[in-house]
Amino acid sequence: MISGTQLIEKVLFKIAKQWIAGNTVDDALTSAKKAYKLRRHAIINKLGEYHTSKKQIKVCIDEYRKIIKSFRKWKIRGAISVKPTQIGLSISQKECYRSFEKIILDARKAHVFVWLDMESSEHTDEIIEIYHTFFSKYERLGIALQANLKRTENDLNDLLDIGAKIRLVKGAYREKASISFKTRKDVDNNFVKLMKILFRKGNEFAIASHDTKIIQKAQSLSKKYPKKFEFQFLKGIREELKQDLIKKKFVVSDYIPYGVNWLPYSIRRIKERKRNILLLGSSLIQSHRV
Ligand SMILES: Cc1cc2nc3c(=O)[nH]c(=O)nc-3n(C[C@H](O)[C@H](O)[C@H](O)COP(=O)(O)OP(=O)(O)OC[C@H]3O[C@@H](n4cnc5c(N)ncnc54)[C@H](O)[C@@H]3O)c2cc1C
Repeated sequence: MISGTQLIEKVLFKIAKQWIAGNTVDDALTSAKKAYKLRRHAIINKLGEYHTSKKQIKVCIDEYRKIIKSFRKWKIRGAISVKPTQIGLSISQKECYRSFEKIILDARKAHVFVWLDMESSEHTDEIIEIYHTFFSKYERLGIALQANLKRTENDLNDLLDIGAKIRLVKGAYREKASISFKTRKDVDNNFVKLMKILFRKGNEFAIASHDTKIIQKAQSLSKKYPKKFEFQFLKGIREELKQDLIKKKFVVSDYIPYGVNWLPYSIRRIKERKRNILLLGSSLIQSHRV
């Protein structure tokens, strides 16, 4: 007989499948190919963070290198997005640099764009430092910055001074009130403020939000400041809006996570939206019936 935990996990996996590509590199590439056929770019991310096992870190590096090398063969316009704590930052900065160097060498050979995901605030300084070090060697490198952090306006201005490529997000980590904006309104206001700086001073940046108001504001800013930028979305979210933006000739990228570590990622997506919690509830009731 199936236990309660197994049932919840089964139902969660069914729901999670809309947001994740599957377990393997080939699943991720297949999903990227599908996105490409819909005229989207793809950004592949291997799920998992805070790795301290060298074996686990090596698997991560090897898979990212395999993905980088596969894009041309699979005829996909793709990038990768790496979380520094999945390639050694939880051991030491030195370990992370060693790992990232390998990834960047392959990316440079294949001309593949690499994004650095931003993690919780205890790592912000380290991740910005990693960005500075590698951006001076490889320009097709971007970094995510979080609008929920009070420090981000300064970070953004500093990074734009060196021509950095920024992905602006609201921020996925719970942070202390002393360093972050806590209400949705304050985070959204700061997002718009930072987005205006990006349109005025930046080039080659990404607006990564599912928020209709923010996306509309970005479209109107793009009329005033015709910059090279793209909209980035998570796989499986706001599908109609993505196609609308493509019709309007905007560049749209799908962020495609894959890997066996799908549970924490999916729980974050479910918690983001009341409708997803309701979906989980009704799916559980239905599975219980059959
Ligand atoms: C491409 C990409 C990369 C990211 N990289 C990072 C990163 O490096 N570091 C980091 O901290 N965070 C990252 N994030 C996550 C981000 O910080 C937010 O946690 C997440 O995007 C939710 O914020 P939102 O801007 O979509 O706005 P929200 O305020 O969460 O949502 C606004 C509206 O969007 C719609 N929506 C939002 N979520 C869903 C959903 N799951 N299903 C359906 N509709 C939804 C709803 O209409 C909602 O009202 C990334 C997000 C994206 C899209």
